[in-house]
Amino acid sequence: MREFYGGDTRRAHSFHFAVLVFDVATVVFAMICGVTLFLRLAQVVFRPYKVRIPCDVCDLQRHEPDAVHCKACGNLLNIPDEGAY
Ligand SMILES: [Zn+2]
Repeated sequence: MREFYGGDTRRAHSFHFAVLVFDVATVVFAMICGVTLFLRLAQVVFRPYKVRIPCDVCDLQRHEPDAVHCKACGNLLNIPDEGAY
């Protein structure tokens, strides 16, 4: 190593430090990406297919999350949603 860097061990050490920082940054970046993807997957898997909003007219309990009207009686529903992503 001493021969490779022409005897400049300080430069060799800073090179190793840079490689270490790059490695750690890569691992942290990969972890953040993985956690984000996992959370998105969990969100999709555990999101209920239907929401429990009782209809005022016919008292039907479960509706599609994006429903505007009750599918049984056609009453206008007021399902709160998070809006578009
Ligand atoms: Zn209804």
